[in-house]
Amino acid sequence: MAATPLPRPGDPPRAGAPAPAAPSGDVERLAEAWTAAIVHGGFVSTARAELRRFLTGTAGRVVATVDGDADPGLAAGIGADLVAAHLTDPAALRCSLDVLAEHFADRARTPDGLRRFTAVVGALSDGYARTLQERTRIEQERISAAAFSARGVAEAARWASEARYGAVFAHALIGISVADVDGRILEVNAALSDMLGYDASELLDRSIFDFIHPDDTPDAWPRIQAMTAGEVDHVRLEKAYFRKDGFQIWTELVVTLVRDPGGSPRYLVAMVEDVTERHHLQSRLQHQAEHDPLTGLPNRALFFRHLTAALDALNRVPPDTPAAVGVCYLDLDGFKAVNDTLGHDTGDQLLTTVAHRLERGLSPDGHIVARMGGDEFVVLVDQCAGDDDLAAVAQRALEVVRTPVPLRGRDVVVSASIGIVARPRSGCGDCPAGRCGCGAAELMQAADTTMYWAKRDGRDRVAVFDPRRHRADVALFEMAGRMPSALENGEFELDYQPLVSLSDGRVRGVEALARWRTADGERLGPDVFIPLAEQTGLIVPLGLHLLRRACLDARSWLDGRSGVEADGSREFVLSVNVSGRQLRQPDAVDRIAAVLAETGWPAGSLQLELTESDLMSSGGRPIAALDALARLGVRIAIDDFGTGYSNLSYLHRLPVDVLKLAGSFVSARGTSDAETDTADGRDVDNPVILSAMIDLAHTLGLVAVAESVETAEQAARLRVLGCDVGQGYYLATPVTPAEIPALLDRPVPLG
Ligand code: C2E
Ligand code: CA
Repeated sequence: MAATPLPRPGDPPRAGAPAPAAPSGDVERLAEAWTAAIVHGGFVSTARAELRRFLTGTAGRVVATVDGDADPGLAAGIGADLVAAHLTDPAALRCSLDVLAEHFADRARTPDGLRRFTAVVGALSDGYARTLQERTRIEQERISAAAFSARGVAEAARWASEARYGAVFAHALIGISVADVDGRILEVNAALSDMLGYDASELLDRSIFDFIHPDDTPDAWPRIQAMTAGEVDHVRLEKAYFRKDGFQIWTELVVTLVRDPGGSPRYLVAMVEDVTERHHLQSRLQHQAEHDPLTGLPNRALFFRHLTAALDALNRVPPDTPAAVGVCYLDLDGFKAVNDTLGHDTGDQLLTTVAHRLERGLSPDGHIVARMGGDEFVVLVDQCAGDDDLAAVAQRALEVVRTPVPLRGRDVVVSASIGIVARPRSGCGDCPAGRCGCGAAELMQAADTTMYWAKRDGRDRVAVFDPRRHRADVALFEMAGRMPSALENGEFELDYQPLVSLSDGRVRGVEALARWRTADGERLGPDVFIPLAEQTGLIVPLGLHLLRRACLDARSWLDGRSGVEADGSREFVLSVNVSGRQLRQPDAVDRIAAVLAETGWPAGSLQLELTESDLMSSGGRPIAALDALARLGVRIAIDDFGTGYSNLSYLHRLPVDVLKLAGSFVSARGTSDAETDTADGRDVDNPVILSAMIDLAHTLGLVAVAESVETAEQAARLRVLGCDVGQGYYLATPVTPAEIPALLDRPVPLG
């Protein structure tokens, strides 16, 4: 065993290694436990006191790294120093890691502490393994040089009888064998026969090709054969062997070709080091790095590796082969509710059960199931024929997920939304000129997007990737990205559509309708950008901007007219659309009040239009802002009445002033394309419904406004039915703010 002095605590620290913590009770305790474990394992022959001194310094550095905020990667230097201190038996590393795990158990109880501790230990192990590997390489090269190069190849043939080399060979700690170029083993040393569990005599005369192992990499033996042909002089590989007793060991194997004086290949000298412990340690670390700790499934990183390999393999098959690589991206529906109502532990159990069922259901067919994180899973269908094939796998996954899961004494049923994308050999069909540039990342992105389509289309279903829909989504996404700066640049503006009294044709107010005049001159309608703004949350500042704009415009129209006051006594209504999301902001009412104060527009002349669904909170109750707005005097109109939830029972309880009857009820059958469908799909007689809705509004003391009045007949009928106000192209189209004042004085002919 080595007798070189150990590095001392006072020695200058290695480059990049963390400075040790000052010896404290904590450090002393760790150093003592560590020394005891190393001495007990018999890993070094150093005197205990010297070992203790070394480990006190090392313990101080580990404590400083775990407790401090230095880069945990610096712990690699500590691993290197363990090797320098001759703790080269990998069992010594394992023993050290056990001591550290026990010592830091308390700190590793929090997720952050655990993450930091694992990072430090990982770096330490990595530094240890790399340093050991490097040392082994240097030692092997030294032996190789001593045996052959230095003495000249001509003498190499007589190596066995040569005293100096014989000693190196016989006593080397590393296994050494010499074979001829046919692969016949001529000599093995004691270290190698011990390692493989054979007597030396049992190995002599056998062929090196008897030691082919199923885990050998495909290029291993061709490389050795290239040596026997004299084409290669050195081969280094990690290789498994079965020992005589059947156990498997892992070795680091370096084979050197020795040539005769004429340069012809003569011997293969193999240096074999047992690296089983290190291999298992590395495999364990690698497994941890590539698998999800909760479910044991491959994680995102490993899945990407498999997907990349599958795409590479796909690119090697002939272009016209109908092969494809498919990805199913699965997201559980309503998982958050399970977590929120049954607790996170139960949520974890559900995820684990679903994960195992998916794996059991799909992996026997060769599909790889992985967890992306949260409640998202992916399935790689390595060889599929196309969308139909992939859809069948996705349907099976849906069925697996739908099977009830017993959790805390009850059966919980969940569903999933799945997006599928197949990337055929010929390309995705969406890349220019068939040169498909789609790699793993693009495919995953597309599958993820497609999964959201399945969610949007109603959940518990499979959506198939559609390049056209994807392009439209991308365009919308880009548009959403441009909206904040468009708001700052004042690109959003308003048109106004008159609200016309059906009794005398006078303009009783206007509805403000948003428009986006983009920087390149395009004018976009609200149906395009309002839903986007709602998704991104921009609707909140945008809505306020439009409200302020509308109040300023209305103020200027009425200020410019003599004898008219916007004091609410005169019935001029400025009607502005608002979204539920806007009104659900905690400070919504304060902000609206502030806009009214700032612009001087009276609350009693402001009307806010909300759809039926926007009136309600997610808990099914009316949103809280309504009452506060009503107290301010702001009127509330239900927009598109009749197309939404239509739960009439809530109407009389809400502070609502106006029902805007949806256009589909206004267009009588036979005179318009629009058909009225009830929720269950039955056609109904529009005039009857229209009449009933107008009566309903009046019974509840509300104003009835008809939308989409497109013809004189419609206007006349609405008038007969007693509808108060009409809005529509027949009466007046939406116009710019400058055109409104002229309309205010002139009654609209009702026909
Ligand atoms: P809405 O509230 O139902 O607004 C009326 C829509 O019907 C307007 O479309 C208007 O141009 C259109 N319209 C008017 N008369 C007729 C007619 O005779 N026939 C037909 N078929 N349509 C008619 P626009 O301007 O495209 O607005 C669409 C929707 O966008 C609005 O529907 C409203 O829900 C929303 N919206 C508009 N501006 C805003 C806004 O500032 N904020 C919010 N949150 N939503 C807005
Ligand atoms: Ca409206």
